[in-house]
Order: sequence, then C-alpha cells, then structure tokens
Amino acid sequence: MSATSAPPGNQENQLVDRFGRTVNYVRLSVTDRCDLRCVYCMPEKMKFVPRTQLLTLEEMESVGRAFISLGVDKIRITGGEPLVRRNILQLFNHLGAIEELKDLTLTTNATQLKKYAKQLKAAGVTRINISLDTLKTDRFQEMTRVGELKRTLDGIDAAIACDFDQIKLNSVVLKNYNHDEVFDLVGYAIDRGIDISFIEEMPLGENTHHDRAASYYSSDEILKDLRQHYEILPATKKTAGPTRYFALTDHANTHVGFISPHSHNFCESCNRVRVTAEGRLLLCLGQEHSVDLRRVIRSNPGDDEALRQAIIDSMEIKPKGHDFNLNSQTILLRHMNLTGG
Ligand code: SAM
Ligand code: SF4
Repeated sequence: MSATSAPPGNQENQLVDRFGRTVNYVRLSVTDRCDLRCVYCMPEKMKFVPRTQLLTLEEMESVGRAFISLGVDKIRITGGEPLVRRNILQLFNHLGAIEELKDLTLTTNATQLKKYAKQLKAAGVTRINISLDTLKTDRFQEMTRVGELKRTLDGIDAAIACDFDQIKLNSVVLKNYNHDEVFDLVGYAIDRGIDISFIEEMPLGENTHHDRAASYYSSDEILKDLRQHYEILPATKKTAGPTRYFALTDHANTHVGFISPHSHNFCESCNRVRVTAEGRLLLCLGQEHSVDLRRVIRSNPGDDEALRQAIIDSMEIKPKGHDFNLNSQTILLRHMNLTGG
C-alpha cells in the first residue's frame, strides 16, 4: 500500500499507520530482569533499570486497556522474564477478564512454570511461547550462563499438562553453539505434540560474548538440515507474529516455524508494537522511534483519554521497517530483555 493512501491514527477504533498497516497486537514487557543470562540476549553483568522507573502493574493494566479500546485484541506478556515480576498474576488476571481481548499470551523461559502454569491457565492465558535452545545439560548452562536444564524441561511439562491452546518452543540458533541440535529439538517437539520456531539472532545491544556475524546460522540452512530427516512443506498456519510456518508430513501435531529477520524480512505485514517495562512505546523492534507513555500516564493521572491520544498519535512515527545488519558497526543499544522479545 502506498505511504499516503490512508491517514494514520485511529480509524473507527483501529490503529492504522502511515503505510496502511493495522496494529492489533501489543507486546508488553513487564520487567527487564531475568533469572537467566542467555548469551545472545544480555551480558553476564547486566545493569537493570531501577525499579522506580518501571511502570507499576496498575499502569501496565491501563496501557493494556487503552490499547484494547483502540482495537488491539492480542497482548503478549514478555520481558525479561515476566514470571519473576512480583505479583505478576494480578496483571494476567485483570487483562484476562477483559472480553474484547481475544488472545492473552506469554513468552517465558519456563523456570517458574511449574509454580504458575495452572494459575496462568485459570487467568485466561491462551498460548505460551517457551525458550529452549538446547537439550544438553552442559550446553544449556553455557548458553544461559546460570540455568539448569531440568528446571526448564519440568516447566514445559507442567505447561503441557494444563492444556493451553498452543505451546510453542522458541530456539535461537547460533552456529557452533547449538546449530547441530535442530533435528533433536524438532524431535523433542514432535514427542510432545507442540510447535517449535527457530529464530535468527538479532543485533540488539552490544554483545562481547560472540561475533554475531560469525555465529549467524540462517533459517534456510536449518530448513536444509531438517529436510535430511523430514518431509517438510510450507504450511497455511498463521499467527499474529512474524513466524513462517512449515508442516511435517508425518507429524501433524507439530509445526516448525522460522523467524528470519535477516533472510526473510517480515516488516511489510507488521501489525504490532512493543511497550517496554519503563513504559516506552516502541514502534519497531529494530528502530528507536518511541513515545514515553510513562510520562503521559504520570502527568495526566486518571486521564485515560491522554493515554489513548498518545497511542493514536504514535501511528504517525511507526517506521516502515528495521534495517538489521549483522556486519554494521552501528547497533541498537537496547538488549532484547529491555526491548521485550
Ligand atoms: N525470558 C523470556 C524468554 O526467554 O522466553 C521472554 C523474553 S525473551 C527476550 C523473548 C525471546 O527473545 C526469547 O525467545 C529469546 O530467545 C529471544 N531473544 C533474546 N535475545 C535475542 C536476540 N538477540 N535475537 C533473537 N532473539 C532473541
Ligand atoms: Fe532471560 Fe529470556 Fe533474555 Fe534468556 S532470552 S536472558 S530467559 S530474557
């Protein structure tokens, strides 16, 4: 669609940007903190945002409500690790009770799922994405720096037992770290009748752990590896996110997805925005265009209209797309845990 074909903003309670894309999906980061330190996500000694600068759970709920009143019907709670935020169930319970919200989802590393899975299901969470990059105990510890594989696997089993609409594994694949495990990870997903997506690492935040360009392992390479073992064909399945899905001919209950910011840019169909734990509304994962919703909320206490208007106005600055470049010296300074993955 041409850049000028539709005025951006609020059209009949829908958020539409300059490029005619309707935004109906928000990723809400509830904390930048985490109990793991995945090597592609954050440095070992991460400096976290002071707690006073984070939105309160009540402020997050107001943000969620404002978006829902503007046609958003999918909210994904993410982080950092969302389940380490104190009293987080309160937010799930309150958002889950809003009828207009069709899809309340969560992205988690699963370390707390044994404790929370049942309560999340009861709160109305529909789908869960769980990060799992390896099935090897030592490697899990290496890639998360501090994690214990068993705890994550127990969390996955606890979630499966609760019968959510969908559970999907997310694996970031790095050459010479875990690229040799894509077949085993798909096997693990097949055994449990769940989906799995492979993600190309994105250049968010400085990374001194590994050379991102040298560790790049493309979705096409993974697909080629998997085709040595499976018959795998493009699928019609579509979710609100940027994943391209494939079906496995002999395993109907498992789809394999690819999130490929480098090799298959997904910006044209972008329908989403992010809100960081500090209340910064990010209009694009890979650009810095943003609006400070915390300032709007705190300078207009109790005025939901000011918040709604700030969100409507933000459609004017949603960029056309990211321009991630693994070889560029210029990188976005915010890490994924701050961005809300
Ligand atoms: N802690 C939760 C988890 O790990 O699922 C939620 C937040 S995490 C930032 C969300 C997703 O972002 C995870 O699937 C993680 O693997 C992915 N991720 C983190 N850093 C990334 C990077 N630099 N490039 C691509 N994906 C990344
Ligand atoms: Fe934590 Fe998720 Fe980042 Fe890993 S990817 S460090 S689990 S926020």
